[in-house]
Amino acid sequence: MANAAQVQRMSRLMIKTLRDDPADAETASHKLLVRAGYVRRSSAGIWTWLPLGMKVLENVSRVVREEMDAIGGQEVLLPALLPKEPYETSGRWEEYGDLLFRLKDRKGADYLLGPTHEEIFTLTVKDQCTSYKDLPVILYQIQIKYRDEARPRSGVLRGREFHMKDSYSFDTTDEGLAQSYALHREAYQKIFERLGLDYRIVSAVSGAMGGSASEEFLAPAAAGEDTFVDCPACDYAANTEAVTVKVEPADGSAHAPVEELDTPDTPTIESLAEFLGVPASATLKNLLVKVDGEIVAVGVPGDREVDLGKLGEHLAPATVELVTAEDFTDRPELVRGYVGPQGLAGKAFRYIADPRVAPGTAWVTGANKEGKHARNVVVGRDFEVDDYLDVVVVEPGDPCPKCGTGLKIDRAIEIGHIFQLGRKYADAFELDVLGQNGKPTRVTMGSYGIGVSRAVAALAEQTHDEKGLCWPREVAPADVHVVAAGKAQQTELALAIGDRLGDAGLRVLVDDRAGVSPGVKFTDAELLGVPTIVVAGRRAGEGVVEVKDRRTGEREELTVEEAVARLS
Ligand code: ATP
Ligand code: MG
Ligand code: MG
Ligand code: MG
Repeated sequence: MANAAQVQRMSRLMIKTLRDDPADAETASHKLLVRAGYVRRSSAGIWTWLPLGMKVLENVSRVVREEMDAIGGQEVLLPALLPKEPYETSGRWEEYGDLLFRLKDRKGADYLLGPTHEEIFTLTVKDQCTSYKDLPVILYQIQIKYRDEARPRSGVLRGREFHMKDSYSFDTTDEGLAQSYALHREAYQKIFERLGLDYRIVSAVSGAMGGSASEEFLAPAAAGEDTFVDCPACDYAANTEAVTVKVEPADGSAHAPVEELDTPDTPTIESLAEFLGVPASATLKNLLVKVDGEIVAVGVPGDREVDLGKLGEHLAPATVELVTAEDFTDRPELVRGYVGPQGLAGKAFRYIADPRVAPGTAWVTGANKEGKHARNVVVGRDFEVDDYLDVVVVEPGDPCPKCGTGLKIDRAIEIGHIFQLGRKYADAFELDVLGQNGKPTRVTMGSYGIGVSRAVAALAEQTHDEKGLCWPREVAPADVHVVAAGKAQQTELALAIGDRLGDAGLRVLVDDRAGVSPGVKFTDAELLGVPTIVVAGRRAGEGVVEVKDRRTGEREELTVEEAVARLS
């Protein structure tokens, strides 16, 4: 008897394929996943997974689960709807800003929809683990996450609601954390290899997560929003946000670092002017003014000046920081750059302050707030400056810091991210266990994410061709797509061979739709992207079918017996 679960008749499948690309779609994965009936837009950045899409999503999840289980990960499911308090404790209720979906319950209490779950996992372990004997622990979940992304785009590549595998490791020692991190790194390599994704591991900045070591898994693809630097000769690769290339000043001299000057407690224009040793009516080119950490004015030679007299509106009870540097005046080129579509908010200023950078040898790369390309970028106007990250970005062809070969700069999709968080969250929530010495020991943590729904889109980006999707077998919604190209005889044969293949353990999709022409069925089969297509057509009467490889297009006529033997 046929294994019914493995044979899906298209006549009974809810699927509507589209001939035309959705009007708003720019990327291949967006167009094809919609046209092939895998996903459907519900609202901006929010997607419905239809039956075939669900199968692919489940296949990706299964691979992720198997490899997480293999490193001893324990699957849990935490709520997505979360109270504000833990995120206040960690500071992320504020830090996340507009990215958080916030809501209130009927009593007026604040809640959020979880964007990631460090806080809640920390609390879970605090509740469950009391002794060093309870650790190490790796917990994971595959869950829907919510982020009110500024620019949800590219279909499921960047959703406002999306599926993530997030895991968290808890250790008592730094070596333990390093070990948990290494286990994840290896598991991720296995996962992405099994999924059939081409990927690179790059070092990354930790951003809002905090913590020290961090690497990203990037899937090279033109549709990606990340820019990364790749050495064609050695294994060096890095996110442009994290690239640090040591550049010696051209003349061999060292540049003086930027000075940060604290102003008197309640500054006035006059006190600032006095502090700077200039008249209160001065305009200054080499000055950057921060009020409560926010840049309010930047003077850049040849572009704009800071008019001291006009700073008044910003000065009320605040901490004012003034940053001056002679370099600033002399080296306007340090605030100029070419800009890619990825945001570099908050990172340019450190660049100016970096004494290693000589004129004309390195550039700031990134996007301004609107994500547009721009030249002659001005810090504070095109970039928000709120952070001091070690950012130096290279031009294509600049020497690889490892081997000196000219670097390439490519686009990629961030599919995974691993962090050694250290004790940031354990400190915030006082997560201790009783140590071997009988004293409380602070726990150290890692957090690790995979964009499960994004991986589906990344796969579509990397594997599609001009005819449609083209899945690697591990994630395909079926192993074989049997097309009944004709009338009753062809349909009968298609169903029979479908059952045989199903019995052999294969997952089969049979296009037995009545009243749909063979031409349409062939086009749909190519669009859907199942790796092997079997056609019951012209020679059905002789029990002969055509077996076709979706990727290579190679085709062969075989008897049913031969085809079943070949495919199973
Ligand atoms: P990005 O830089 O693309 O915004 P992120 O660095 O903010 O991603 P993480 O916080 O590292 O994302 O989350 C872990 C993983 O979740 C990411 O590596 C990515 O694969 C996935 N992910 C993050 N944001 C989204 C999103 N909006 N839609 C789909 N997947 C996402
Ligand atoms: Mg993000
Ligand atoms: Mg990122
Ligand atoms: Mg990330």
